[in-house]
Parts: sequence; C-alpha cells; structure tokens
Amino acid sequence: MNQIQNLFSLENKTAIVTGANTGLGQGICVALAAAGAHVFGVARRSCDETLEKVKEVGGEFTEIIADLSDLSAIDSIIKEVSAKADRIDILVNNAGIIKRCDAIDVTMEDWDAVTDLNEKLVFFLSQAVAKQWIADGKGGKIINIASMLSFQGGIRVPAYAASKSAVAGMTKALANEWAQYNINVNAIAPGYMATNNTTQLRNDSSRNDDVLARIPAGRWGTPEDMYGAAIFLASEASAYMNGFTMAVDGGWLAR
Ligand code: NAD
Repeated sequence: MNQIQNLFSLENKTAIVTGANTGLGQGICVALAAAGAHVFGVARRSCDETLEKVKEVGGEFTEIIADLSDLSAIDSIIKEVSAKADRIDILVNNAGIIKRCDAIDVTMEDWDAVTDLNEKLVFFLSQAVAKQWIADGKGGKIINIASMLSFQGGIRVPAYAASKSAVAGMTKALANEWAQYNINVNAIAPGYMATNNTTQLRNDSSRNDDVLARIPAGRWGTPEDMYGAAIFLASEASAYMNGFTMAVDGGWLAR
C-alpha cells in the first residue's frame, strides 16, 4: 500500500455505527469494514444481513443489540465495545427516525421521539466517546448523518427538519471545541436515498416524480453511495476537516 492509499486505510481501527441493521448504516458498516476497521454495529434488531455483507468484503463485524430511544444504552454500548476492543477510534451517528405529519397535527410524543434519537442521542453518545479520546490524548473521528433537511425545511416533517438542522449545528459546535484534541467531527448529508426512511415517499407516485425530477443525477441514492464519504471522513485523509457537513445528494442542493 503506498502513502496515499494508506491515508484511507482503517486497519486496526475500531468503529461504532448506530442503526447498523439496514439502509445507510448497513452501507457504512460494509465500507468501514472493507477499509479495515472492526465495526461494532448497534441496532434494535438482528444485524445478520449486515454481518453477511461485511463477510463478503472480508471484514470484521460485531453486533450490539440496543434500543437507542433509551439514553442509558450509551453506557452499556461503550462498556461492551471497550471490553472487546483496545479503544474506539470512529463513531458514526447514523440511527435516525422520521415521522411524516402536517405540522399542525404533530404531537409532543412524536416530537420527542424524533428529536431524542436524531439529536439528543447524537450529542450524548459523541460526548461519551470524546471523554475517552480527550483522556487518552489520541483523538478520534465522529461522523454524524445529517440530511438535506439540515439545509432545507422539507414538507410535513418539522421535527425531523429541526433535528437534522441541530445535527449540522452540533457538528460545528463540537468541532470548534474538540479539534484541538485531534477529534474530527464532520457530517454527511445524504440526499434522497432508497431505504426504509423514504419508502412512504417513493410509494407516493407524485412525490416520487417530484423528487426524481429535482435530482440532477436522475436517480435515488443507495447505501453504496455512502461508501466513499464514510471512508474519507473516518480516515486520516480528512485530518484537516472539522465541522463540515458534506452532501452526498446526486446534486440536489446544487439545483
Ligand atoms: P432506515 O429507516 O432504513 O434506517 C434507520 C436505522 O436507525 C435502522 O438501522 C434502525 O434500526 C435504526 N434505529 C431507529 N430507531 C432506533 C432505536 N430506537 N434504537 C436503535 N436503532 C434505531 O433509514 P436510513 O435511510 O438508512 O437512515 C439512516 C440515517 O440516514 C438516518 O439518520 C436518516 O435520518 C438519515 N438520512 C436518510 C436519508 C434517506 O433518504 N434515506 C436522507 C438523509 C438522511
């Protein structure tokens, strides 16, 4: 491996990816594992499919079952990974939910469910790993999964838009405080990707057509489209990137 290829290597690194059983999180697990990391995937449900896909690329994957709507899961996740790995090097805050509803009808319960997972958990899980990284002086990489709705308001998803704008904001806020500890905090803002998150949207033929017509690349994104950005932000290649939210959106924001 030459010096430049080395920049993108994740050999001997340990990564935690939340929401690892499906969708974009699954794609990110495959990418980081293929680049050499031992990936600990957190999910409420079995990650068997992810494990199979990681095996296909010759990678290492360990599943951690946890319900992240309960913030006490943070401590147990950190303990479980720390018992099996020398240290955590990379955290990908990917787990997220969306609830579609007219703003006028949103309940407090739904608002809390979305913002607790998409925003509060992201902050406190990041804080938990950063405490270890600041204590051992070795730094680390945090990748938050933002959204087009970190930049735009969207339609009928006000709690989601608020939470993803918060993700972009906290990515900058944490980078400002932690860059000095060699901790890179950045985010990826996926465009419109074909996963469970967008099933409802894709099943509505008029919304589906509207979305597609606005994507310069002319297609919905896929979990595989996340590979490059995830490896880049998890590796030494992005050592001088701090607080930036990178779009992987087929050109949606350029329109
Ligand atoms: P998805 O619904 O397929 O995956 C969501 C993941 O979060 C799943 O692994 C799910 O198990 C996990 N999760 C949800 N609630 C959880 C809980 N309480 N405890 C543990 N895990 C939980 O959707 P996706 O598209 O793969 O979404 C991944 C991330 O990407 C989310 O943060 C989402 O907001 C974001 N995103 C998706 C799109 C898109 O178009 N699909 C666009 C922008 C951002």
